[in-house]
Amino acid sequence: MSRLTPAWIFLLALFTLPAIAQSPDIPEAGSVEAIAAATTDPHYVSPWVSYIPQSSTVPSPEKFLGRIMGAPGELLGTEKAYPYARALAAASPRVRVFTIGYSEEGREILLLAIADEAGIRALDRLKDATAALADPRRTNEAAAEKIIVSSRPIYYFNAALHSDETGSTEAMLELAYRLTVSEQPMIQRIREQVVVLINPISNPDGRDKMVDWFYRYLKGKTDRTTLPRQSPPYWSRYTFVDINRDTHQQTHETTKAVHRMFHEWHPTVVHDLHEGTPLMMTWNGTGPYNPNIDPRFLNPIQKWNGTVLFPPRASSLGRLATTSTTRKRAHLQHWTTRHAGRKKCCAISTGRHGIHCRKG
Ligand SMILES: [Zn+2]
Repeated sequence: MSRLTPAWIFLLALFTLPAIAQSPDIPEAGSVEAIAAATTDPHYVSPWVSYIPQSSTVPSPEKFLGRIMGAPGELLGTEKAYPYARALAAASPRVRVFTIGYSEEGREILLLAIADEAGIRALDRLKDATAALADPRRTNEAAAEKIIVSSRPIYYFNAALHSDETGSTEAMLELAYRLTVSEQPMIQRIREQVVVLINPISNPDGRDKMVDWFYRYLKGKTDRTTLPRQSPPYWSRYTFVDINRDTHQQTHETTKAVHRMFHEWHPTVVHDLHEGTPLMMTWNGTGPYNPNIDPRFLNPIQKWNGTVLFPPRASSLGRLATTSTTRKRAHLQHWTTRHAGRKKCCAISTGRHGIHCRKG
């Protein structure tokens, strides 16, 4: 008869859970401690991201940049983020890097594609497949069923659109490394069955201005009553231009680049990463709904609700990418209305602007 009391079993589970989540990965030396030290409360660390997997061939963020992603008092701009993305691609046949545009000030807009070796070799064929699936004029239902058998969902992450929402770039680069090297069964399945696209800095002009501002005015300042302005008055090249309102007009290079990416790859999921702690809320998909929104739009949200669209993969990516998912009901995002409404696509926006999904 077991002599373990429920309390002991609970404690045992608490200590063995991270080990189970890591297996068969070996944590990079010091990564568990560094991540724990940079996290304000253990409650916020998921076992999936409590360590950095060790690799002898692919540089981790810490090996390349000298620190973990998200380290306090540091922020990554294009001059370091892009070389790291290219180092990943140079070191691993599971990663490729593409230039999808240039900003108003001439900075590159970079895209990483991550999959297993076979997926990377087949990128052109997989792109053709999603393009065919997105076009009912040339693909009927029978043809679509055939294509689906040998194609993959493409999951696109859009990071750092709003420059004062700073976390997503570093989270995405860590995710890129984790997807590249981790041998956890969950990650292997993602590599084998999905193509993950990551745009780590979708608005590079704004990002670099934010990084400059941070090091010049904010780094080391902790007294909230005397803090300078939290971000520069430029979100891109221009003052207070909110680029995610530009999706319809497509006047900004960021918007044009993402649209080109969309029509080239036809991603199955568009996940736009934002931030906004004060406004965070969770929503289980139930009402009340905004009466001004067509129920034909809301019903798919309810159905989806984290369960319809290949749940293990979607939820795994979500857990890796963010510690929490926020949904602000009844806020129609431009990506959703423009893309998801017209294409077979699920558009998600994480953060202050909520999650919006439509499965076509
Ligand atoms: Zn935002």
